[in-house]
Amino acid sequence: AHADFDQLLQTIVDDLAPERGAGELADYIEPLRRVDPLSFGMALCTVEGELYCAGDATQRFSIQSVSKVLSLTLAMQHGRHDLWRRVGREPSGNRFNSLVQLEHERGIPRNPFINAGALVVTDVILEMLSDAKATLLDLVRGVAGAADIEFDREVARAEHETGHTNRAMAWFMKSFGNLQGDPEAVLDAYFHHCALSMSCVELARAGVYLANGGCTPEGMCMLSPAQTKQVNSLMLTCGAYDAVGEFAFRVGLPAKSGVGGGILAILPGRFSVAVWSPGLDRAGNSVLGTMALEQLSSRTGWSIF
Ligand code: GLN
Repeated sequence: AHADFDQLLQTIVDDLAPERGAGELADYIEPLRRVDPLSFGMALCTVEGELYCAGDATQRFSIQSVSKVLSLTLAMQHGRHDLWRRVGREPSGNRFNSLVQLEHERGIPRNPFINAGALVVTDVILEMLSDAKATLLDLVRGVAGAADIEFDREVARAEHETGHTNRAMAWFMKSFGNLQGDPEAVLDAYFHHCALSMSCVELARAGVYLANGGCTPEGMCMLSPAQTKQVNSLMLTCGAYDAVGEFAFRVGLPAKSGVGGGILAILPGRFSVAVWSPGLDRAGNSVLGTMALEQLSSRTGWSIF
């Protein structure tokens, strides 16, 4: 019966072909400006571990903010009691790299999926682990089942060179006492996490534990069912920047987007789905990726509602 999943994804990719190239590439760093704007891929992984895909599903791209789900998972695995005192759980309604709320809220970011929140999460990871980069890389390779996943060094270097707003944010939170470590070490780990290079197939595989109560189809458990619910809830309310309401309205699935044009979405109990197309809307979400997920949920009725 599942043979039609390949067909379904292929139909969506074909139907949206005229829209390829819609939106604007992220232009804040050169390696993201260079990506082929017509790229478009899709992959779905069921909780049984079956994989379906269409389009440019095996081409790697910069996962950017989708990594915030993985770094949050790593921080939650170590069960730090103060994590949720240092980062909130409310949508921000502001751009992902906004500084404005940080002053009013005394250095406590609104949620772990905006940049400020991910920097705090990264700081928490660094407090527990000596090598936050290698540990996250190992986690990702394990859940994706791909030992050759790497950080794109060129992207990481470009993030480092242009990341003045992120740097301001880290030091600002340090001034409120909400970063324990050296802000430059936190930024270095954060920039590398953003620079993970993965394909839709790898991202769908990597995210399927979120559809399966915290465990991979192979039985490797990343989070408890209760923690998995929390991460999915945060994805629904905070996973698509300041366009998250519109995204939920159209797609109806918990999801996390990144400015590389990737989106990872979850149907709990059923599957994960990763889409990639680098053209972004004004909030920074993939235009075609959002359309593809909207098509998937409207054609099939698959949503959490
Ligand atoms: N590297 C980007 C930044 O820190 C990630 C942002 C994103 O994908 N929204 O600004």
